[in-house]
Formats: sequence, C-alpha cells, structure tokens
Amino acid sequence: MQRVIVIGAGIAGAAVFFALARRGADVTLVDDGAAGQATAASAGIIQPWSSSATGAYVDLYMAGAAYYPELLSQLAAAGITRTDYRRSGGLIVHRDPAELDAAEALLEDRRAEHGEAMGRVERIGGARARELFPPLAEGLDALLVEGGGRVDGRTLCDALIAAGRALGGTVRGGAAALRGDTEVVVDGETLSADAVVVATGAWTHALFTGLGLDIPVQPQRGQITHLRVEGVDTAAWPSVFPLSHHYLVAFDHGRVAVGATRESEAGFDARVTAQGQLEVLRDALSVAPGLADATVIETRVGLRPLADGGTPVVGAVPGMPGLFVATGYGAGGLTMGPLLGDLLARSVLGESIRMLDATAPRPASGI
Ligand SMILES: Cc1cc2nc3c(=O)[nH]c(=O)nc-3n(C[C@H](O)[C@H](O)[C@H](O)COP(=O)(O)OP(=O)(O)OC[C@H]3O[C@@H](n4cnc5c(N)ncnc54)[C@H](O)[C@@H]3O)c2cc1C
Repeated sequence: MQRVIVIGAGIAGAAVFFALARRGADVTLVDDGAAGQATAASAGIIQPWSSSATGAYVDLYMAGAAYYPELLSQLAAAGITRTDYRRSGGLIVHRDPAELDAAEALLEDRRAEHGEAMGRVERIGGARARELFPPLAEGLDALLVEGGGRVDGRTLCDALIAAGRALGGTVRGGAAALRGDTEVVVDGETLSADAVVVATGAWTHALFTGLGLDIPVQPQRGQITHLRVEGVDTAAWPSVFPLSHHYLVAFDHGRVAVGATRESEAGFDARVTAQGQLEVLRDALSVAPGLADATVIETRVGLRPLADGGTPVVGAVPGMPGLFVATGYGAGGLTMGPLLGDLLARSVLGESIRMLDATAPRPASGI
C-alpha cells in the first residue's frame, strides 16, 4: 500500500486526501490551522461558463463544475451526503442589455461542449429576476443560467475530510516543513512516506524555499460579508453576477454572502478592513438595494493562492521523485479543486494524466 502525506487541508488538499483514501492509499493529511484559509472564506459559486477567462484556466474551471455530480456520488458511496451543494441557478444582471447580449453569446459559444452541465440559458428580464431574487434593483436586464450551482466551502471540505477518514485516512494538526521529497517534519517529528503532496494554498512558496525551489504563487486577499435576510427562505435563490468581480450568493436560512474584494498587496494579513467592508457592502447594495435592512452576520477573509500566469500548478515537481504540488487555484478553487484533486491522486499512484499537462510545474516557471 502506498503511503502518502498531504500537507494543507483546504479544498485542494482535502480533495487529494479523499481521492487517495478512496483508492486504498495509506494517507495522512496535515494542517496548521493558519488564519486566512481561502476555502473557509470562499463564496461557493459553481458557475464557470460565463467567465471571461481563457485558456487552460477556464477549461479546468468548466471541467471542475461538470465533475460535481460524480463527486457527490463518490461522497455518498463513502457515507457522506451533506455538502450544501445546490444547483440554484446563476442570474447574470446588467442595466445595459448589450452587455447581456455579449454574455449570452459567450454562453452559446460554450454550449456545444458544456451544454449539459450549463443547462438552459434564458433571457428572463428584470421583473422575473426580481421574483427569483427579490432584493434586486429595478431597471436591470437578466439572463438565467439554470445549471449554475453553489456549495458551502466549509461543509464540502469537511465532507471530503470525513469521507477520507471513513476510508482509513488519518488527519493531524501541526505546521509541516519539507525535508527532501518524501520526508516531512511536523512540529519536530519526522514523517516519511512514498509520496508527499503540498497543497498549502497561498503559503506554498514558503514551503519550497527551504528546498531551494521556487513555486510562483502569491496571496490575494478576499473579504466577503455574510448577511441574513430575516424570516425569508433564501435556499432556492440563484446566485447573482453583475458582470464584474462582485457577486451575491444565497444559502439556506436567509444567509446571503456578498463580496468579494481582490487585494493583491495585503500579503498574509487576514484582517477585515474598513475599506474592504465598505467596498463589499456598497457593491452589493448597488445591485440589490433590498438587502439594506439585512443583518450583518460576519465578514470572512481568505487568501486566494494566485499563480503567476493564472494557471494552477498541479503535478509532479521536476527533479524531486515523490514530491507533488497542488496549488494556484486562484478564484476558482471550489469549482476545480475536487476534479484536480482526483486527477492528482491518480498521478501520485502512477497513472499518466493528460489533463495535468497544462498544469505541470515547469522548470521554466522557476521550479
Ligand atoms: C472570498 C473568496 C471567495 C471565493 N469564492 C469562490 C467561489 O465562489 N468559487 C470558487 O470556485 N472558488 C472561490 N474562491 C477560491 C477558492 O476558495 C480557493 O481557490 C481555494 O479555496 C484554494 O484552496 P487551497 O486548498 O489551495 O488553499 P486554502 O484553502 O487556503 O488551504 C491551504 C491550507 O494549507 C494550510 N497550510 C499552509 N501552510 C502549511 C504548513 N506549512 N503546514 C500545514 N498546513 C499548512 C493552511 O492553514 C490552509 O488550511 C474564493 C476565495 C475567496 C478568498
């Protein structure tokens, strides 16, 4: 049986942990509980088809969304049924119908390959949009993407870890450092394995520095505020995309997450700031003024792992047999993390995975 250590228990590491445990590996997951885990702050939107991104990133983003039904059946087979995933639809809104024409054209272009996961796309107009998401402003045009989904990042990550444990995996706390390609030191104790997977999100660069290697990943701070609409069942409300980087995502029991900031200069500072708070609330109320009286529950802060060039870095580290990395998921890790975790687990176990050609760590990128 192959022994594998996975460092980092966000969505990237949890997905690899589950996929390895499912295939019978002897796998240990290590996490240091640092403030600013991206997964715990994520909005949970699974709606990649209207993304303006291009290239390998968007291909993985769309493939990741299409993988969700398979993931849910794998979790159910391991006895875990709660993920808080729901295909509640994605509502793209804008005051200028021409902007929606462009979004509709992009979705139509992607339909041939991704139509099944995307579902029906319908120009429903502002009045119908306000029936589906009542706090919306008047005067908006709207496009509904029926296959759009949302998932609670915390619940999903816990589900993957619980399923991995149920299949024999081990979880332990502590800060891990790499020692060579198949040894890890956790709080002074040395653990060895046949393979090590580094899935430490925005912190990945620091782990490799000790080996004299460079993984080009930077933190990007995201602040996201959770509101509660009192006495309203919001479970079936669609997510709202005003064709900019901000959005509104509804969950059960009146909870609506609005955000998020994209701050590249904040380093590892995981605080809620006055400017961040102002920005997310101003953006949210500009498109959904009906939320003005909602209760502010909390603001979460996560550090997205942003890879230089934008494409995730997933695969075997050149020149280091047994050492693998899974990071750089940027703003799309909840969507693509489960699929990439499964592909990487197969690669760790010796399969050759063509889809990982685009993400392989390359000496040219500094590794
Ligand atoms: C505000 C916000 C909104 C988002 N919304 C969405 C969305 O709607 N849809 C979507 O698809 N994606 C979204 N994302 C992106 C997504 O959350 C990230 O891409 C993803 O969570 C990254 O996962 P990760 O496991 O790589 O990193 P993380 O979740 O940050 O996990 C890394 C883990 O490694 C641990 N670690 C670090 N160093 C060590 C060490 N030395 N030893 C042990 N453990 C260590 C950390 O403590 C952490 O737990 C959002 C992100 C943010 C911040």
